[in-house]
Amino acid sequence: MSMRMVLMGPPGAGKGTQALRLAARFGVPTISTGDLFRASAAAGEALGLKAAEYTSKGRLVPDELTDPLVAERLAQPDAAQGFILDGYPRNLAQVDALDEVLAARDTELDVVIEMDVAPEVVLERLLARATAEGRADDVVDVIRERIAIYTRETEPLAEVYVSRGILAQVDGLGEVDEVTDRLVSAVEPFVAD
Ligand code: AMP
Repeated sequence: MSMRMVLMGPPGAGKGTQALRLAARFGVPTISTGDLFRASAAAGEALGLKAAEYTSKGRLVPDELTDPLVAERLAQPDAAQGFILDGYPRNLAQVDALDEVLAARDTELDVVIEMDVAPEVVLERLLARATAEGRADDVVDVIRERIAIYTRETEPLAEVYVSRGILAQVDGLGEVDEVTDRLVSAVEPFVAD
C-alpha cells in the first residue's frame, strides 16, 4: 500500500495529534517539520538555532533551510512506502520542491487533507497548549502571526491540490477520535492497494 500524504490545516487544528494517529493506522512515519526544527534547536545544532530565529516570531523558516531537511528525511528507508507530512509544504515554492523530490523517485502524493477549524477555535486551543506544553511560539502575538501566514501563504495550496484532484477537506472540530474517523474515511479513496 502506498500512502503519501500531506496534512494541512491552520496552527492548532490538531494536525500533530491526528498525524500520529494516522501514521499508526497506516503504518507509515509522520514527518513534522516543526518537530524537526524543535529537535534540532534542542540539540543545539546550527540549523535548529537558525530556524529558531524564525519559529520564535511565527515566521516561516526560509525554504533554503526547510527543503533540504525534508528531502533528507524523505530519503530515509522508513519513508519509502509512504509518509504523512505534517506542516510541509507551507508555501507554493515548497509545493514545487516536494514535487521534485517525489518525481526523482518516480512517486507522487496520493492525497492532501485540509483540516478545517475556525480561527477563534484555533486561537483558544493554542493558548491552552501554551499552558500545557510551554511552546515558545504559543503566545498571542506569535499565534496571530502564524495564523496570518497560514492564511496568506499556506491556504492557497489547497487550490493547487484541488486542481490535481487529490484534496480532501475534513471538519477538524469535534472529539479527537471522531476527527480521526473522518480523516481515515477521507483518505481511504485515495490510497492505492
Ligand atoms: P508547527 O509545529 O508545524 O506549528 O511549526 C512550528 C514552526 O516551525 C512554524 O511556525 C514555522 O516557523 C516553522 N515551520 C514548520 N514547518 C515549516 C515549513 N514547512 N516551512 C517553513 N517554516 C516551517
